Amino acid sequence: MSKIRILPDALASQVAAGEVVERPAALVRELVENSLDAGARHIEVHAQRGGIAMIRIVDDGSGMDREDAMLCLERHATSKIRTKEDLGAICTFGFRGEALPSIASVSRFRLATREKEALVGTEIEVNGGKLMAVRDHGGAPGTVIEARSLFFNVPARRKFLRTENTEFAHVEQQLRLHAIANPQAAFTLTHNGELILHLPATRDMLERIRGLVGDELASRLLKIEETTLHGVTVSGYIGGPGMSRSNRQMQTTYLNGRPIESPSISYGLREGYHTALMKGQYPVTFLFIQMDPTAFDVNVHPAKKEVRFHDGNGVREAIARCVSRTLENAAKLPSGHAPARTALIVPAVETTRQEQFVMPVVTSTAPLRQVEPAISATLAIQKVLPNVEPPSAEIAPPKQVERPKPESQGQPAASDFRIIGVLQKLYVLMEGKEGLVMMDQHAAHERVNFEKFRRALETGGVPCQRLLMPINLQTTPRDADLLKQNQAVLSRLGIEIEPFGPNIFKVEALPAFLKTDDPAAWLDQVIEELSSLSTKSSSLRLSEDAIATTACRASVKSNDVLSIPELQALLKDLLACEMPYCCPHGRPTLVQISTAEMERKFGRRAPG
Ligand code: ADP
Ligand code: MG
Repeated sequence: MSKIRILPDALASQVAAGEVVERPAALVRELVENSLDAGARHIEVHAQRGGIAMIRIVDDGSGMDREDAMLCLERHATSKIRTKEDLGAICTFGFRGEALPSIASVSRFRLATREKEALVGTEIEVNGGKLMAVRDHGGAPGTVIEARSLFFNVPARRKFLRTENTEFAHVEQQLRLHAIANPQAAFTLTHNGELILHLPATRDMLERIRGLVGDELASRLLKIEETTLHGVTVSGYIGGPGMSRSNRQMQTTYLNGRPIESPSISYGLREGYHTALMKGQYPVTFLFIQMDPTAFDVNVHPAKKEVRFHDGNGVREAIARCVSRTLENAAKLPSGHAPARTALIVPAVETTRQEQFVMPVVTSTAPLRQVEPAISATLAIQKVLPNVEPPSAEIAPPKQVERPKPESQGQPAASDFRIIGVLQKLYVLMEGKEGLVMMDQHAAHERVNFEKFRRALETGGVPCQRLLMPINLQTTPRDADLLKQNQAVLSRLGIEIEPFGPNIFKVEALPAFLKTDDPAAWLDQVIEELSSLSTKSSSLRLSEDAIATTACRASVKSNDVLSIPELQALLKDLLACEMPYCCPHGRPTLVQISTAEMERKFGRRAPG
């Protein structure tokens, strides 16, 4: 007897449905996309018991006539594409004609729809894929779609659903993703009858973001000036240096309005943030990319979450450039022009509510800091820090004259701070205009040295110091190749290295700034950095920066005791940096506890 059977239609559709609608949040994705495609300006999402008991979406979009309402429940019935060519240039969210039949096959489904001019609409009931009833519908123009008892007829699938709370968290996250990209539409979300989100329509993207993440976080975002490179137009808002998360939840990226994830985009972000992002951390982004729909393929993922770019490198580079320019500009803008400008100093108290992307409307519990514009930026040439290097070996200090600062510079000046003392030989306590400011002396040093190092690289190379006794370095054959290939780069970095036999090198000079007791171990780190970079194949400047980052870790000794004038000089150097508020590894250099915060802690001021 043969074993192979053609699946009955109903079963086949349930199998495929699993790909499209794996959980309530997926229903929300598909149905909200349909509403947006139908031009809706108001979209309501109602969920019961995490969306498992019920999801209902009400929109004021185009609606459907009776014929379309019947047709839309057929598999592969879509109004959005007609020909194979259309599939290569998709401008709508939907295109497969799969969502509605899939949802209808695994739930108790009701569709009620009416076109604007139509006298009467249509209501259709389907039970686990079986058509139960078609009748007239007298409701408002637009479409209502309701799916009850999800997977009631597919127990195997129901088993994969998580708790109601978890499922609802996904529903909410999904709706937020769409709401961010579509400020022109009003969104409402309820759960078990309780209002969770209410977002009025707005023309202002930042206002929509604020409605979702709260004032405090929104005020710290930097605006990307819309730029086009390689046919990729990038815009949106991103977190400044030192603003990061340990997961990707707030790294939201959109392609032509569709929330997507893509390695090209992630690499671009990482490259753009570079030293402004700690290893293992993810940035906060609301990044929008606009591209010709023929330049990528969305038909590669069942949930349409991933895309394939024809020119992934172009996308990566466009994003990297925009992000790095935005971060650099943020450190220069006169205050008042950038809303986030005032908040680059990381507040000591970050409320966890803002960390999470879950609360509907987050009211700020951390006070907004307003950094006063410096009265005048001191243009004095910096003194060489005695603890950094003997003057002969010192990397040229930043030339202030080359980068004159506007008078209205928002950046605080060293004179705005009074040094109180040093805690644990590391944290410099200072009185600032708005409270207590702490400087991580080590991180500050790394940032200062990193920027000096980078400037030296740009102007001909890092000064090196010949070793009295050359170091012999034994390497693996793979590392030996790497070193040979990168000999010129290394030399610019102040590392003179010559082959000295098979897989052996003689190290003759090291960067003059280096402060390490174990140069061999430090070289190992540099080699490791080189090899991880060669696999990622980034730009030369980026590899040099990455090595400079490693180098700078070894440019400061921990537990150095500094005198007050030395600390003042360090602070001044730090504030003169292009990106003063984080070390090259993305850790904050300055942290502030505002006076208001302290007053609350001491009970002198009511919380909130
Ligand atoms: P797709 O979105 O891929 O076309 P769907 O199964 O999601 O497939 O929807 C099928 C069709 O039903 C759509 O092409 C559209 O014409 C129609 N449709 C679905 N939802 C709505 C809605 N909310 N308002 C108007 N038309 C809709
Ligand atoms: Mg659809």
